[in-house]
Amino acid sequence: MYRFFPILFIICFGTATVSAQNEKYFIGSSTIINDYRLAVDIASKQFPKYRQAVDKTYFEHLKFNTSRQEIYEIKVVVHVVYKDEVENISDEMIASQIEVLNEDFNQQNADTANLRPAFYNVKGNPGIRFTLDQVVRVQTNSDFMMEASSTYDDVNMMKKTAQGGSDPVDPEHYLNIWVCKIQSSVGQVLGYAFPPSGLFNWPAGSQEPSINVSGIVVDYRSFGRNGIGFSSGGPSWIVLNGRTTTHEVGHYLGLRHINGDAASSPQLDPCEVDDYMHDTPPQEQLSSHNCNANQNSCTENDTLPDMIENYMDYSSQDCQNTFTIQQADLMRNVLENQRNGLITDISSIKIANSSTFTMFPNPAKEQIVLRASTDLIKRVTLTSPTRKTIKILTSVDSLVELDISNLSPGIYFVSAEFESGSVTKRLVVD
Ligand SMILES: [Zn+2]
Repeated sequence: MYRFFPILFIICFGTATVSAQNEKYFIGSSTIINDYRLAVDIASKQFPKYRQAVDKTYFEHLKFNTSRQEIYEIKVVVHVVYKDEVENISDEMIASQIEVLNEDFNQQNADTANLRPAFYNVKGNPGIRFTLDQVVRVQTNSDFMMEASSTYDDVNMMKKTAQGGSDPVDPEHYLNIWVCKIQSSVGQVLGYAFPPSGLFNWPAGSQEPSINVSGIVVDYRSFGRNGIGFSSGGPSWIVLNGRTTTHEVGHYLGLRHINGDAASSPQLDPCEVDDYMHDTPPQEQLSSHNCNANQNSCTENDTLPDMIENYMDYSSQDCQNTFTIQQADLMRNVLENQRNGLITDISSIKIANSSTFTMFPNPAKEQIVLRASTDLIKRVTLTSPTRKTIKILTSVDSLVELDISNLSPGIYFVSAEFESGSVTKRLVVD
């Protein structure tokens, strides 16, 4: 057994004071420093523009390699691992979380309008969609603890059926999300995730130790829109509206905290420690779960305030509203490389070979009927004009009826999934 520490980069504590203290505590146990990163940091001390030049070159390369042709789709499996019934969150709460992800990763969140003008030119759209593939519910007798002395085994228990958790579903091809009660004696942990391996912006040893623990873990009180919150032993004032999962998916797709986890490099000036995104401002600290628009923790050569709007800060979730362009590009690049199984699988089923369906009437008002041409329809998904999931019907039939009487007039999309793939059609409701 060895001590578990790299995950320190990716925890979200409930309170500001506890957060700062505990990060230092965790960081004190870390001795691994990535050689490349250290070299860049040291060179930057002597030549202040060195890191910017390295970053610029790197991200120009990334941009060149990052396709902007299509929206990537990731299939999601949610494991609800609960002990008490209150932890067994509803299907509606899960659906609301998928909605939040689809809004935040497509710049369709209403509060994107709150971004301060100083950051307009760096606002990035990842163009990633999430579809809920299945929900696995497991009742357990296990407690899931995360403490300073925790090992990898401890913090991954919920991912193992043999330890009272739930084994992942094909983690190369699906994003697995475990929702459970995360217990900790060092401050409330809202969620955590492992980044993929092979990314230059993370210290060695940060990545997931095995594909079988790939995915993210989110506390049940922090999952979904208007999360349940913390009724006791925690800070009930924290606004929880699904952004813990947005933040953790950011880590899962390669993003660092916006301050580059400055305290993990105590030998350097915190304002010199970077998240390796050159369109985020230098930031000494993470926010303290508040919305302090006046905070500017690094002022030398930096006129921008701290970017409290960024999903990778620790600001209150109701003032987070954006990724930057480079963050978006890095996540897309990770999907094209380190985590390409997630989208390769989707792209292979995007065009169903022989399967298709007819849909009538169209335009429609009350009800539509889908009739499969050859294969049986396994599932039908109705999405809004902004591609929010409205309804999912599971069925194994060649004929499916769908009630649409409660829809407002407009353009919708109906996807039918077959054994060989899925086909989407445009539906006009009048
Ligand atoms: Zn984090």
